[in-house]
Formats: sequence, structure tokens, C-alpha cells
Amino acid sequence: MTDGIRLVMLGRQGAGKGTQAVRLAQHFVVPHISTGDMLRAAVATGTEFGLKAKSVMDGGGLVSDEIMVGIVDERLNADDTTSRGYILDGFPRTEAQALALEKITADRPLDIVLNLEVPEDVVLERITKRRVCKTCGHIYSVDAPPKNGWLCDIDGGEVVQREDDTVEAVRKRLDLYAAETLPLVAFYGDRGLLREVDGLGTPEAVFARLLEAVSTHQQV
Ligand code: AMP
Repeated sequence: MTDGIRLVMLGRQGAGKGTQAVRLAQHFVVPHISTGDMLRAAVATGTEFGLKAKSVMDGGGLVSDEIMVGIVDERLNADDTTSRGYILDGFPRTEAQALALEKITADRPLDIVLNLEVPEDVVLERITKRRVCKTCGHIYSVDAPPKNGWLCDIDGGEVVQREDDTVEAVRKRLDLYAAETLPLVAFYGDRGLLREVDGLGTPEAVFARLLEAVSTHQQV
């Protein structure tokens, strides 16, 4: 088995970050921790917290740093992540979250931060065309739909548009990304942890670039 890794994926929403994070998690045999997926699971339980999170997410806003840091702190202290590491996807999204993550990982620091770079006009088109399986979360597109109507090829679940994938919500998310998350590229660059990866091209080509970035970083 390969060595584990503690890796953060940065990048605009719709840059293919989620799909590539899943592949990296399989490659390094570590959990894929997506804060968006964790929040969507909370929404599905219908708790008061879930309802609040849903209204923030549907509007394309950010859930508070305090709540997000609490969720991630608990998850990064679970046995599976402390033993082999993780691929963290969707967190940190603000400088306050990045500073909190430094504290959480003080004993087991991050190995690398990958920034998947895709221009804004490309992601806007990709996200508004994105469709996801309601049951397993597998991602499709209007240009690459499931084989059988809008039913998932993997588990037959209904394939739909995410409620926060409307043009207005996506624009808001991209603006928030520019204001809150983009500064993290410099934050991790200053710490010598950042590798930029071109996110354009086939998923296979992008994945190969991500692995290459990890291996060259580890040789330094
Ligand atoms: P994602 O699946 O990563 O696009 O996340 C979906 C939504 O969940 C985001 O638009 C935010 O509303 C919320 N969310 C996910 N991760 C975070 C985070 N680290 N901080 C604040 N909000 C988050």
C-alpha cells in the first residue's frame, strides 16, 4: 500500500475538485473529506442545523467559520484520518479556517496543498451544466448524461441539478471564492506547501498532473 498523505485541495467550485479529490483518496487509500458532502448529509437529516445550513448553501453563501472548524476538527481527530491522513476538499475556504486548521494539524502538519486552476468563465459553464445523483453524489453533466434517462449509471438514483447550482448562486460562490478563498493560495505559498495544477483537459490528464505535483513536492 502507498504511504498515506495529508492533502488539501483548493480550487474554484466546478474546477473538478470533488472528482479529483475522490480519485486521490482512492490512490493514497485515505478518506475523502468533503465539507460540502458533510453539510449535505446534515441537510438530509432535516435537523434544525441542517435547515439553517440549507438556506445558506442554497443562496451560495458560506456556513460560519465556527461551525465549519468544529466539524472538521472532530473529523480530523477520528482514527482513520490520524493513522493515514486524508484528502480535504472544500475546507479551508477562509483565512480564519486556514489558521484554525494549522492549530488542528499542529501535531500532524499538512504535506501539501494543491490548487486546481480553471478560469472563471469555464467553471461557470461547467457548474450550470452539472447534474448529480441524489443518492450517491456521482457527478454528470448535460454534455455527459447517464446512459438511461436521468437515472444514475451506478445505483439508478435520480440525477438532478443541485439547488445551489443556479447561475445566481454560482456567481455569488465565485465572488466569495475570489474574496475569501483565493487569498489562501498566497497563504499556503508563503508556507511552502502550495502546488498549482492546471485543471483544464481530460480528468485523466488532470489526475496525472496532480500525482506529478505530489511526487515532485515530496522529493523537495
Ligand atoms: P461544496 O460542495 O464544497 O461546493 O459546498 C457546498 C456549500 O456548502 C458551499 O457553497 C457552502 O455554502 C457550504 N460549505 C462547504 N464547505 C464550507 C466551508 N469550508 N466553509 C463555509 N461553507 C462551506
